[in-house]
Amino acid sequence: MRKPNIAIDGYSSTGKSSISKVIAEKLGLIHLDTGALYRGITYYGLQYCNQDGAVDMECLIDKLPEIILEFRKADNELVLFLNGVEISHEIREPRIANEVSKVAKEPAIRQFLLSSQRSMAANGGVIMDGRDIGSVVLPDADYKFFLTAAVEERTSRRLNELLQSGIETTHEEVMQNLMLRDKIDSERAVAPLTQAADAILVDNTHMDKRQTIDYILSFITK
Ligand code: C5P
Repeated sequence: MRKPNIAIDGYSSTGKSSISKVIAEKLGLIHLDTGALYRGITYYGLQYCNQDGAVDMECLIDKLPEIILEFRKADNELVLFLNGVEISHEIREPRIANEVSKVAKEPAIRQFLLSSQRSMAANGGVIMDGRDIGSVVLPDADYKFFLTAAVEERTSRRLNELLQSGIETTHEEVMQNLMLRDKIDSERAVAPLTQAADAILVDNTHMDKRQTIDYILSFITK
């Protein structure tokens, strides 16, 4: 029997990836964090097309054919490799978060990642989280959810995560970054962050991770 595809979209730091990971384990699905792909391209851009700390988009678009991004299995989870080198920790750094939405709004970059995301889900059995999964990447997904939460709450969650992984930053810096990314992601011309008409809205401001997972599962397993 074909397994379902599940789309999890929503605002930054609503817990999309960590929630998707648990649901994937529970239902025997593969979890794909599409934000990691955009972060991976941004990492490459800052390495090879860096102009005063920002990505030179023309240079990056020219170099797209040289970029191979792949998820490989390590310790029961998928980690991101860029041209054969693991970059899963590096892509979480604030310098990447500060540039990624500018990179992700470029139509050529989105096009570059679209077919690989679709082919990963071609046989079903995938839970994919991002911004445009239910609306553009997998419009026929079997289940679609759209996550949101108050910005103060999202800031505290992301700040804790970053501090725990040894990345130094402040509440103010994290909040500014979340708000700016949400704005750029929502306003871009191609595949903006939006709730698909048939997606279920989940506001988890007052729910913890466990409650959000149970709520989502209640739609899938019934
Ligand atoms: O999910 P995460 O916060 O890691 O995503 C980083 C950035 O990648 C987002 O702010 C957005 O600009 C971009 N992104 C996107 N479309 C997706 C996933 C992520 O534009 N499907």
